[in-house]
Parts: sequence; C-alpha cells; structure tokens
Amino acid sequence: MKDLKLICTGCGKEYSVKCVNPRCEVCNEPLEMEFITNGKIKEGNPLTQTILERYADFFPFDEINNDLSLNEGFTPLVPSSRIANRIGINNIYFKNESQNPTWSFKDRGTLFGIQHAYSLGYKKVGAVSTGNMAVSVAAYGKRAGFDTFIFVGKDIPEEKLNPVAIYGANLIKVDGDYGKLYYESLEIGKRHEIYFINSDVTYRVEGYKTAAFEMCEQLNFNVPDYIVVPTSAGGNIRGILKGFEEFKAVGLIDRVPKFICAQAAGCSPIYNGFVKDVEIIERVMDHKTIAHGIENPFPPSGNEVLRKIKATGGVCTAVTDEEIIVAQKEMAEEGIFAQPESCVPLAAVKKLKNEGFLKETDTVACIVTGSGLKYTAAFEKHNLKSYSCKIEELELFIANNF
Ligand SMILES: *Cc1c(COP(=O)(O)O)cnc(C)c1O
Ligand SMILES: [Zn+2]
Repeated sequence: MKDLKLICTGCGKEYSVKCVNPRCEVCNEPLEMEFITNGKIKEGNPLTQTILERYADFFPFDEINNDLSLNEGFTPLVPSSRIANRIGINNIYFKNESQNPTWSFKDRGTLFGIQHAYSLGYKKVGAVSTGNMAVSVAAYGKRAGFDTFIFVGKDIPEEKLNPVAIYGANLIKVDGDYGKLYYESLEIGKRHEIYFINSDVTYRVEGYKTAAFEMCEQLNFNVPDYIVVPTSAGGNIRGILKGFEEFKAVGLIDRVPKFICAQAAGCSPIYNGFVKDVEIIERVMDHKTIAHGIENPFPPSGNEVLRKIKATGGVCTAVTDEEIIVAQKEMAEEGIFAQPESCVPLAAVKKLKNEGFLKETDTVACIVTGSGLKYTAAFEKHNLKSYSCKIEELELFIANNF
C-alpha cells in the first residue's frame, strides 16, 4: 500500500491506510482516504483496462489484481435534450450505472473493497444489505474465491433473496433490529476476520470516485453545473464528490460541480437535517417509500454528507413516490429503465427547476444508480397497456388504430 492515511471526517484523527474499521474510535464518524493531489489518468485503451488500472494514481494500491474485476464501470453518460427542453434547462445527462456487472453502481465500491481485502490477505468478506449491495458483494466475493457472508433482514421477500443466493455466498437471514446489524457486523468482522464491505466503508467510497473520473473524461473535462445523487447511507455521493475534488486538485478540471443530495420524501433524514440546519442528523422513525434502496432512516454517513453539501454550496431535496413514478416513465421513454431510487434525481431536478433553484443555463448530471428490472413491482404503479389481435387482422388493426 502507498504511504497514505485515512482521516476521520469528524475530528481529523489519522489512521493507517490498512485500517479496515470504517469509523473513528473517538467520534464514530466515517473515515476517509487522504486527498490525492498528484496523479494522472493512465495512458492506454479503456476497453482493455479496468477502472483499478486506469485511475491507479488515485488509489493506495501498489499491486492491482485485475482478476478481481468483472469489468465494472465505464458506463454510458447519456444526454437527453428532449427532457432538458421539457424542464427548461440547458442540458441533462444520465450516468447509467445500471450497466454494471450486477446492474448497479455498487460494483465499483465492491471491487475496491475486495481489492483492499485482497491486499491485506483477507480470505473472507461480507455485507449487510437486502438489495444491490448484497448482490454485488455476493458476486465479487465468490469470484475472488473468498468465503462470502451476506446478512439480510429476516423478512426479505423471496424475489430479493434469490438474486443474492444464485452467486453461492453464505446467505443468512437475521432476526432482529436491522439498523443494529451494520454495527454488529463490524464487530463480528473484527473477531472472525471477515472484511465487511458495507454501505459507506472507506474503500467502497473510494471506488465510487471512478464515476466522477469517467464523467470528466466523457465530457472532455467540462464538468456539469450539478450532479444529482439519490442518497441513502451517503457512500456514493461522498465518493463522487471526492472524485471531482481530486481531479480538480491534480489540475484535470478547473471547477467542482455542485451536488444535489436527493432523497425520498418518505424517508429523508439528510434533507430534514439540511432544512433544520442542524449538524447531527436525527433518525427517521416512520418511513415508507417505493424507493427501498434509499430508505435508510439513520444513514451512517449522514452527518458527513450534510457537512460536505453545506461546505460546497450544494443542496438537499426530497421527492414524493408519485414524482418518482412519473420520472421513471419519462426516463423509460428515453430508453433508460431505472429502478425507483434511480429516478429520484430526475424528479429532484424538476422540483428544483420549479422552485427556481436551477436555472435555464444549468447543465445537470443524474446518477442512475440501478436497473428497473431490480424492482418489477413498480410496473403496477404505471398504467401500462398492450393490444391483441389475430394475425389476419393485424394490418387492418394497425391502419384503424394508429
Ligand atoms: C445503494 C443504493 C443507493 C444509495 O447509495 P448510498 O451510497 O447508500 O447513499 C441509491 N440507489 C440504488 C439503486 C442503490 O442500490
Ligand atoms: Zn473522529
């Protein structure tokens, strides 16, 4: 490992780059890798590189194991002038993270967690999740040949269980307070040498920087005005922001976009903290939203996201389930079918434009975090239709009806 430090985002205490525990012993806030201020993008063809290789200067690994990769990242950045026109902004892009190996952005973070575990000689990895992270860690853990432990809540529905089970990891339904399981897993991990690559752990956040690096390259280093991220634990938004900040620090871009932390109105602890202008977020007691993947009532990186949003001139917002469903349909009609969580950014952009926060001259990029096929129950919320007719009548049917 390179000579870098992990720094507490709360109190600044320093830790070794080899530290696996993602939180500060003193103040319990998340740790973060020291800023990279010197580095460049590796030359070569991104079609034959992994994200670990191409952006190696921005990570602490001396030796990269490309066998751990499933060729994640390098996802499309799709513009939509039609949606931009409709909203009345300059341009909107969709960073389509559903095109990752397990159909969500989690794969970027999982790869970096697995690489860290491998660098330190771990043989076991794990995650606490009921959704995309469970699937991602199951896939990457087994591929790496690690003993892989996935803890899920006991009431997880079958259709969410099997997409994890298929990869062959040790899948355990845990009866008890799901909120406690995150902290419990870190303790169990320490005692049993299992590296838990949970929601906002340091190296997962590091991996999420790569989405920012790619967007810079895809836009010829002319960054958008705003990046909109559907936020739950806060790992992804922290990582993408840090990615832009590091590219600025090394001189690859001349400004850092502002960040919009977008939550579901049915569970919006970070947004609530922003509105109340407090420093410590409060647990949301009753929560309900169709966007289950961002339904964390007490996000472990919540305070840090608040600090960062305030310090960088960003904003938090929250949108209703109805607004999310409308956005899902609009994105599908542009060819991007995303899960409800991932439609929160577009709903947020529309809301912030109506409120006058976003201007006609603004360009925004929405992070489309995962695939619509992850949650087919959302189909019921749409009025989807199809037609039937006999083959002999097909031509007449077309002529008469369309
Ligand atoms: C995990 C997840 C999020 C939230 O990311 P955090 O890092 O927890 O803030 C958003 N959308 C989808 C689809 C996810 O799977
Ligand atoms: Zn601290």
